[in-house]
Amino acid sequence: MSEQQGFQCSVCHELHAELPLAYGPKAPADYFVIPEAELESRAALSADLCLLDEEHCFVCGNVELPVQGSDKVFSWDVWVSITRENFQKTLDFWENEERQNEPPIFGLVANTLPGYPETQNLKVAIHSREVGRKPFIQLEPTDHPLAVEQRDGITLQRIQSIAEMVLHPEN
Ligand SMILES: [Zn+2]
Repeated sequence: MSEQQGFQCSVCHELHAELPLAYGPKAPADYFVIPEAELESRAALSADLCLLDEEHCFVCGNVELPVQGSDKVFSWDVWVSITRENFQKTLDFWENEERQNEPPIFGLVANTLPGYPETQNLKVAIHSREVGRKPFIQLEPTDHPLAVEQRDGITLQRIQSIAEMVLHPEN
């Protein structure tokens, strides 16, 4: 995981050693509402793909945001809901060296991200990249703050406030 230098936290007033430049939930939001005893029979989950109830299909990708005044990139690693047909296609092309030449597929964000108005169901285009790399997730160019940050970039100050939210969720 990439990181910036540390920062002085405005919540606990400690110096945190790292300012992470990537975060991501381990699964789509729908996964976390399944009772633990039913997970084994209802959910199939890897670091990249998720299938729930043999019906709901998801792929994990990177919503990359350029960091203003820097050549760095901040990334939300989010789950995106896709059709069964596109899920199958994604599987078919998984190990295919040509997969980044495939046209992007449509998806809907399947996580609620901290520090934004609701992000679930935002429309995205999913761009495959080389084998071994998560796809690039391009937000529909709306005025949702996440889409604006993808377009205009995110400030280091905002990245720090996200870190504070993640480190101190009780606040
Ligand atoms: Zn702190």
